[in-house]
Amino acid sequence: MRNNIVAGNWKMNHTATQTKSLINDIKESLEGKSTHCRVLVSPTIINLALAVQEIQGSAIEVVAQNMHQAKKGAYTGEISAEMLEDIGVNTVILGHSERRTYFGEDNAILTEKVSMALENNLEVIFCFGELLEDRLAQNHFNVVESQLKNVVLNLDATLWKKIILAYEPVWAIGTGETASPEQAQEMHAFIRSLLYKTYGKSVADNVSILYGGSVKPANAKEIFSKEDVDGGLIGGASLNATDFTAIVTAF
Ligand code: PEP
Repeated sequence: MRNNIVAGNWKMNHTATQTKSLINDIKESLEGKSTHCRVLVSPTIINLALAVQEIQGSAIEVVAQNMHQAKKGAYTGEISAEMLEDIGVNTVILGHSERRTYFGEDNAILTEKVSMALENNLEVIFCFGELLEDRLAQNHFNVVESQLKNVVLNLDATLWKKIILAYEPVWAIGTGETASPEQAQEMHAFIRSLLYKTYGKSVADNVSILYGGSVKPANAKEIFSKEDVDGGLIGGASLNATDFTAIVTAF
């Protein structure tokens, strides 16, 4: 059966000192609470190794926000899948809308990144979602289908145990606008139907599909209660231990 997952994407926030203290605040705040989901945090790359040390002894997992598609070589400023694996990071976020918008990551690059991550046995949180103009034009299902078909829907079925999907409508990221629980469920059910059509029931039933876009303590429970929503990718609210814990315990 698929896992429930709450993942905090800290983006380009927090120094090493702040990272350490946020992890410890989350650990403290989760102490004694029963959680019904995997809890993932994604600090900026320079703080990953420190985060891996800080989460020792807890159930929290550390996730990278990005990696390069090449195995190694002359790519100044970049980091490889092997480097992540070597410091104990087992999961990487790929395809976040900010990477697509500000760093030109297109389907071709993301296909290479996903394949390199999987070759190195990393789990991938693959993000995708429509722009506001796509939704207003009623084109959101087509956009999402094409983002999935062009990158992940041609992967071998056996690789899907290493893929988590994160539907993030771009109009809801960091805007305070949230898809309604019904809009999220409608899209997640559509995504699961694509998995079903492509791979059959077993893959479709076992892939976790997260929702991302202004999830807060006030709306998490209702969004997570939807049948095909298996958790959230949380930006802003994950930078506050109390809010993040409230979202984690919304399951
Ligand atoms: C995100 O960046 O993945 C995200 C969902 O951000 P926020 O929760 O701030 O909308």
